[in-house]
Amino acid sequence: MAVRGALGGPRVLLRRLREVMAEPVSAQERLDKIVVMIAANMVAEVCSVYVLRVDASLELYATEGLSKDAVHMTVLKPGEGLVGLVASEAEPLNLPDAQSHPAFSYKPETGEEIYHSFLGVPVLRAGIMLGVLVVQNRAHRTYSEEEIEALQTTAMVLAEMIASGELSALARPGAEPAVRRPVHAQGVALADGIGLGRVVLYEPRVMVRNLIAEDVQKELKRLDEAVDTLRASIDVMLEDENVQRGGEHRDVLEAYRMFAHDRGWLHKLREAVMTGLTAEAGVERVQSDTRARMQRQVDPYLRERLHDLDDLANRLLRELIGPDQLPAKNALPENAVLVARNMSPAALLDYDRSRLRGLVLEEGTATSHVVIVAKALGIATVGQVENAASLADPNDPIIVDGETGEMHLRPLPGLESAYADKVRLRARKQAQYAELRDQPAVTKDGQRVNLLMNAGLLVDLPHVAQTGADGIGLFRTELQFMVAATLPRTSEQLRLYRSVLDAAASKPVTFRTLDIGGDKVLPYMRSLEEENPALGWRAIRLALDRPALLRIQIRGLLHAAAGRELRLMFPMVAVTDEFDRSKELVEQELTHLRRHGHRLPETLHIGAMVEVPALLFALDEILNRADFLSVGSNDLVQFMFAADRGNARVSNRFDPLSEPVLRALKAVVEAGKKHKKPVTLCGELASRPLEAMTLLALGFRTLSLSPAAIGPVKAMVLGLDLAAAEKMIEPILNGGGAKEPVRVLLAEFAAKHGVPV
Ligand code: PEP
Ligand code: MG
Repeated sequence: MAVRGALGGPRVLLRRLREVMAEPVSAQERLDKIVVMIAANMVAEVCSVYVLRVDASLELYATEGLSKDAVHMTVLKPGEGLVGLVASEAEPLNLPDAQSHPAFSYKPETGEEIYHSFLGVPVLRAGIMLGVLVVQNRAHRTYSEEEIEALQTTAMVLAEMIASGELSALARPGAEPAVRRPVHAQGVALADGIGLGRVVLYEPRVMVRNLIAEDVQKELKRLDEAVDTLRASIDVMLEDENVQRGGEHRDVLEAYRMFAHDRGWLHKLREAVMTGLTAEAGVERVQSDTRARMQRQVDPYLRERLHDLDDLANRLLRELIGPDQLPAKNALPENAVLVARNMSPAALLDYDRSRLRGLVLEEGTATSHVVIVAKALGIATVGQVENAASLADPNDPIIVDGETGEMHLRPLPGLESAYADKVRLRARKQAQYAELRDQPAVTKDGQRVNLLMNAGLLVDLPHVAQTGADGIGLFRTELQFMVAATLPRTSEQLRLYRSVLDAAASKPVTFRTLDIGGDKVLPYMRSLEEENPALGWRAIRLALDRPALLRIQIRGLLHAAAGRELRLMFPMVAVTDEFDRSKELVEQELTHLRRHGHRLPETLHIGAMVEVPALLFALDEILNRADFLSVGSNDLVQFMFAADRGNARVSNRFDPLSEPVLRALKAVVEAGKKHKKPVTLCGELASRPLEAMTLLALGFRTLSLSPAAIGPVKAMVLGLDLAAAEKMIEPILNGGGAKEPVRVLLAEFAAKHGVPV
């Protein structure tokens, strides 16, 4: 393709750049040569390279045409001038009359006032901004599309040079190129702990090293062939019977198919290759733009689609480069910190736990399943870290702070040692909690509290002994189903339930029957398209409509508990009839087992979870039927505030430590007392010491928490004067008209009474 105004076109330029890149000259000399070449090739009077520094300003590193004295002297503040604008927008800027643009900023030392036209393109690598490449001419002219494309291609070569670290030698301390800059990101703390280690990307980026084509026609052919193979592989995936069943996975594949046939995308890829890039570099060039757009896109739907396009480009790159050049999946460093956009619990379990120190997710909320598994495994986890997977490079040093929700990528040495101290301090604290392990949880005024733990996987079981939990208050049976590739067989279910009862020894275990649907999707089971899955066909509703599934599970539980105590509860009970029908299924299974001469559980307790607000107004009725109640505060709170627990925008908007929730919980406690039936709470609420203190003040005496919370909550119990706490909470429940938010009052109480929360 002929490029107007360019001498020899971009292909010639790229070839010459390759030669310069290989020359044994200093970094500055290389840069100087590059700008001369670009200026000549583009018939531009000026070509300048600005490099983004760690302090977010842009420094002139080389120029042909502007005053040489300005090199390393001219520094633009973030967003300053046209160059700053290109960097902040991550898009080319093409102006025939630069000086009339409102963002134009005059730098007298450069002598650029005589140049009117301006073309600036971002220097991007994997969508990350590294600098700005500019050409300028005296004449008022608009650069052509081809010229913009050519300059962007050239910028890729510069990006490689910057990313290689070669320019660091030219920088003053504190003003190094931003490429390896430390990144501090505030996300959301999801699983407690601190992880210091090295980045392992869950979906490794394919890094293209071979940028410049030897033979463009050959590269175009390679690209076309790879696109054909990609399309065919997507068709094959879509024909897969499992995918045919529908669900989110299918939607993603449909999006892939759409993009893989998108003429605009393919045209861009071909165009990039035609400027002289290899097929893979062409894909990366276009992908880099996609990533840059993705990082600035705030609309979640569009972001999601750009992610799909990015994934597709990755597939295409793999097609082109072949699997050999990808990093080995199993070569985990000793101290791996996984960085992912999102991942399934099964994928997390694939990694060697003993080498995992932390997990960083771009998505992920406290109740998402990968987080539940991460918690069970005791992996420090931070979520909602924007662009984490794009910012991190494999093997980068990283710190995950699961206490504060922070991620520090490539931290400065001072920070690393501060965190090493923090880790030591935590270890000391953990040792103190471990000392409490065999001590019963008794308040200062002599009230015994039962601290049970939540579990759901085999990996949880050692925690019973390690934490000294009084039992398992919530065993989420659906987790086994969620992390499996296919529906667990009856024998597998039975084996797990037996192991759970064995691990708990004589301590009580409460199994919750399958709680699937809603956000708990089984990849191998048909899921319905529902407008509001959280309010949809899920948990006990689904189980009652598909009784075979529930009956098999109940049978497994009854078998496993032969001769022992069995405690069962049903999730999401909204009306008493659901409880009655579920209990009836248990009766039928008991009859069946009895008839066939099987040994039955010694005792059987059947309870209901209180997680649907309607049940709050039918407490007498449900307590007339159930042997016990357990409040699922995660769901109860989401439904009370009508705020999706999995949606980060709203999930933390309302404080459960507020009058309406506390009154609802108090009503459950009172009803339990009236009916002389045990009432417990097993949502995440119980896992935080201040919240747990509040629950005790409301009258709960049994809480089920995540294993890691047992130590801190027990320490709180041991330091609590419960009678004083009960007295303090009374006026709040009675609407005392306090000015302060409830949380503040509770925290003040804890501080005043020296309760460790
Ligand atoms: C709850 O809703 O509080 C609960 C314990 O159940 P899950 O988190 O599994 O929905
Ligand atoms: Mg629930």
